[in-house]
Formats: sequence, C-alpha cells, structure tokens
Amino acid sequence: MRVGTLKEIKADEHRVGLTPSAVREYVARGHEVIVETGAGAGIGKDDAAYEQAGATIAASAEEVFEKAEMIVKVKEPQPAEWAQLREGQILFTYLHLAPDPKQTEGLVKSGCTAIAYETVTDSAGGLPLLQPMSEVAGRLSIQAAAHCLEKHAGGRGFLLGGVPGVSPARVVVIGGGVVGTHAARMAVGLGAEVTILDRSLPRLRVLDEMFSSLVRTRFSTAESIEEEVMAADAVIGAVLIPGASAPKLVTRDMLPGMKNGAVLVDVAIDQGGCFETSKPTTHHQPTFIIDGVVHYCVANMPGAVPLTSSYALGNATLPFGLSLAAKGLDALRGNPHLKAGLNVHKGMVTYEAVAEALGYDY
Ligand code: NAD
Repeated sequence: MRVGTLKEIKADEHRVGLTPSAVREYVARGHEVIVETGAGAGIGKDDAAYEQAGATIAASAEEVFEKAEMIVKVKEPQPAEWAQLREGQILFTYLHLAPDPKQTEGLVKSGCTAIAYETVTDSAGGLPLLQPMSEVAGRLSIQAAAHCLEKHAGGRGFLLGGVPGVSPARVVVIGGGVVGTHAARMAVGLGAEVTILDRSLPRLRVLDEMFSSLVRTRFSTAESIEEEVMAADAVIGAVLIPGASAPKLVTRDMLPGMKNGAVLVDVAIDQGGCFETSKPTTHHQPTFIIDGVVHYCVANMPGAVPLTSSYALGNATLPFGLSLAAKGLDALRGNPHLKAGLNVHKGMVTYEAVAEALGYDY
C-alpha cells in the first residue's frame, strides 16, 4: 500500500504520525511511504532521515493527499486537510468527533474511511492508542509539579525529594489509573511522599501490590480528598469517568485551607478538569494562581515532549497501521478491536456514540 504522513498543521502540534523507525517497518514489508517535507522537524528528524528509512519526500501536503491510499497522522484533520480527503482513502489518526460537528461533516462529505485512535480497543477493555499519551502526561505531571513548586513559579520553594535532614514534599495523586500510576512512579522515584486516592478498591489493591510500602493508598471520598489536599504540597488530578465530564473533587472553598504555594496539576483538564478552579492553559502560559495555589492545566501535555510522544504513539499504532497497509479494510473484519476504531466510512458515521451525539443515522 502507499502510506503517507503529513506535517501537522494544528497550532502547537510538533508530533508526527510516522517516525523514521516506523517508516522502515512499513518499507520492510513492501509498502511505499510518502512523507511531506519537514514532517519530522518537530522531533528533530529531517527529510534525509526519512529518505534513509526508505521514504519518498513529497514537496507538499497536496502531493501526499493525492498519492497516499492511507494517511497516518496525529491530530484530527483541519479544514484544509479534510477538504483533500477522498473516497477510498483511509485516515488513521486521533479524531475526537463527538464534540466536533464541523470535522464530522467534513469527513462524511469526503467519503473517506476514518479510523480514530481513541476508539480502538484491546482485549483487556483498554484503549491502547490513548494509553501511551496518558503514560507521558502522568510522568510529565510530576516534572510540572516540581517546577511549579519552585519560588519563581509562585510555588512554596520546596524541593520534591527534600534533602538529608529536610523532609520531602507530599504528593497526592487523585485517580490511580494510567496517568496516576505513572505520576506516582515518578514522584516515588524523586523521593516524594506519595498518596494515591481512587474510588476503585480493586485498583487500590493493584497499586498497593505494585508500590509496596512506597506509596500510601486511600479510598477516595469527599473526606479523604479534603484531608489529603489540605496537607499536600502538590496534587495531581488524574481521574476519568469514561464518557462523562470529570467530577469536581477539589472545590473553590478548599483552596484557602491549602498550603500557600501548593500546586494543583489538573491532568484531567481535557475532560473539563477535576478541580473547580481549573481552566485550560497552554504550554506558553501553563499556570495561574488562585488563593496562593498554583494551577497547571495544560490540555495537551504530551505536546511538550513531541520526540518521546511521537515514538510512544508510533509504537502503539504501528501494528494496526501495518495490518491496514497489508489488508486494507479487510483488516477490520478479522480484528474487532481495530474495527472499534471505525468512525466514518463512505459518507456514514459508523461509531454509535458519535452518531448519537451529532444526530447522524447509525
Ligand atoms: P484511567 O481510566 O486509566 O484512570 C482513571 C482513574 O480515575 C480510574 O482508576 C478511576 O477508578 C479513577 N476515578 C474515577 N473517579 C474517581 C474519584 N472520584 N476519585 C478518585 N479516583 C477516581 O484514565 P487515565 O488514562 O489515567 O486518564 C486520566 C485523565 O487524564 C483523563 O481525564 C484523561 O483524559 C486525561 N489525560 C490528559 C492529558 C493531558 O494532556 N492533559 C493526557 C492524557 C490523559
């Protein structure tokens, strides 16, 4: 198959759909790969690196759209991009269609087959193409917390790990799923005192086994959250209720009771945030302060580390992409997990929740 990748054009997006190492895997299986010039600039990979991996460089996005049978991207197509998609072409990327009627209409009109990373499933009931970005965001949340605790950032001027003779910071992680586990791992590694709250007892048991005595676990209730947040130096918001907005677990009136210069990192901001005072921020202006509490609420945290994120995402998408390249849409027949990714096909919305949300026949 002829597979293409583009230079991402969404603001602040520096990741790329295919790394040179992924290109090599496609080429080794007899596929042709076309890469828009400059596509890898954000991860420090120039056209020569792609050519060395076996790709052909296209001078423009138009050329990729014209020649490729399947386009592998990172972000949802922008208006100029969906206008160039055509019937029979496969688009494999993050889409997040439910809140985006214009994009959905664009994809429906194009006639293309759009497979969304975020709805591909695995046999454990997980979302394997979302997981790598949660891993990145979880690990990054502790770097953000450490930075925000510094004096010049508005924080307490407190070192996460402490030093001999001075106690470490208390880090409270609310939500012990993928983000929370990776946040806890980093915080423990830096020597912080870590507590994880979750409302799932089975999950708390897994975490207890995993971290042994290195973290405390607590069942999440209004009372336990309040107690932990008041004593915390940094709180990581990492909850998810699938299909729903994040619950507001730290309320406005709790802030004056927190330590002056404490930090709230709201990773769940992409689902509306789990702190009442959260509002989305950007990498250029990541924080704001309310009642002396530093808030960090960047909605696309993995965008800060596009090199790591592109490879992490590529590792997860590669097996599915190779299967599509080898079998075309027949790959969906034998694989219900990949089929779960099908959102739009030949002018129809084919994913129930999107159809329902936007009023399409399903
Ligand atoms: P996950 O499903 O793996 O984990 C969520 C956890 O939250 C579960 O263990 C669940 O039991 C727990 N939970 C639910 N309600 C709770 C409550 N009231 N108290 C305590 N725990 C509760 O999800 P994840 O992959 O870890 O993602 C967490 C959040 O991070 C999501 O909102 C996701 O969209 C977001 N995220 C944001 C970014 C970003 O860049 N900001 C990147 C990746 C993920």
